[in-house]
Amino acid sequence: AAKRQGRNRFHYYTPAMQEVSNARMRLTNDLYSALANDQFILHYQPIVDLETGLIQKAEALIRWQHPQRGLVSPSDFIPIAEDTGQIIGIGNWVCRQAAAQVARWRAIHYPAFQVSVNMSPAQFRANADSRVPCFNALAEADLPGQSIVVEITENLLMEAREEISSQLLVFRDMGIQVALDDFGTGYSSLSYLKKFDIDYLKIDQSFVRNLASGASDLALCEAMIGMAHKLGIQVIAEGIETQDQYAILKKMGCDYGQGYFFSKPLPADRFEALLAKHPALCPAVSEPTIS
Ligand code: C2E
Ligand code: MG
Ligand code: MG
Ligand code: MG
Repeated sequence: AAKRQGRNRFHYYTPAMQEVSNARMRLTNDLYSALANDQFILHYQPIVDLETGLIQKAEALIRWQHPQRGLVSPSDFIPIAEDTGQIIGIGNWVCRQAAAQVARWRAIHYPAFQVSVNMSPAQFRANADSRVPCFNALAEADLPGQSIVVEITENLLMEAREEISSQLLVFRDMGIQVALDDFGTGYSSLSYLKKFDIDYLKIDQSFVRNLASGASDLALCEAMIGMAHKLGIQVIAEGIETQDQYAILKKMGCDYGQGYFFSKPLPADRFEALLAKHPALCPAVSEPTIS
């Protein structure tokens, strides 16, 4: 990176970069009115019990329906919302929406159904008062904490701040479960798994991608699953796209799977139609082929 900086040091602010910065500025401005104008929507992706195929959970994934740009991906606006502090309002909206949905799906589908929500480190840094509305959502929907799983990343735990561990204890007291998202991609330290009470470890999709080619990822996935299980942590594999990846992870004893092989993230009504039609996504299991 230093090398690149050096080479470009005399003309580092190019028209193209100006364009990127303008585009970001416009998105930032539009983001201020997005919540009031009802432009966010949650999509839900099934999380499947690999043993039974039953859809037991869903991950809530936010999208922004921009009047001109169409659906904007969270990777494009969540970082902005984190910088500007808008993530607090957005995060509270996500919690309320997710709570309402899980209440409905517990009633019509599966009584122990859970919805997981992603939480940014910025939401943990906010003062306790601004975190409260998120929890009120559960009480308003008359739901037990067990209905929600909060997804955090290793980078949050790395901050090793008092508010963070005390917040995780509040979740624990409420019965809210915690998943460690994108596991293996951050500054992984196995000591986090010992120090914090984690319920689920989500193996990042980058490890799942090359599983069938017999590369080192096979050994890594097996090691992560074995270690998690010894610590009493359940494992969710992300980004399962093929029958082989599914069969290999199932054979390894991975608890849950999520990915396009089962279903893409869907709007609530289509997710509900899927639950009604295919409460279990249980593709025929053939022996995994490892080349
Ligand atoms: P994530 O939490 O790791 O979510 C998984 C991402 O992988 C989602 O991207 C999902 O659509 C995608 N995915 C699922 N299955 C597959 C697959 O089989 N193959 C591939 N290639 N991708 C798959 P998405 O929806 O674009 O979200 C990106 C990230 O944005 C999320 O990563 C999460 O970090 C963040 N995010 C999403 N919703 C929220 C939210 O409500 N709050 C916060 N703070 N962050 C959010
Ligand atoms: Mg996630
Ligand atoms: Mg992830
Ligand atoms: Mg991710």
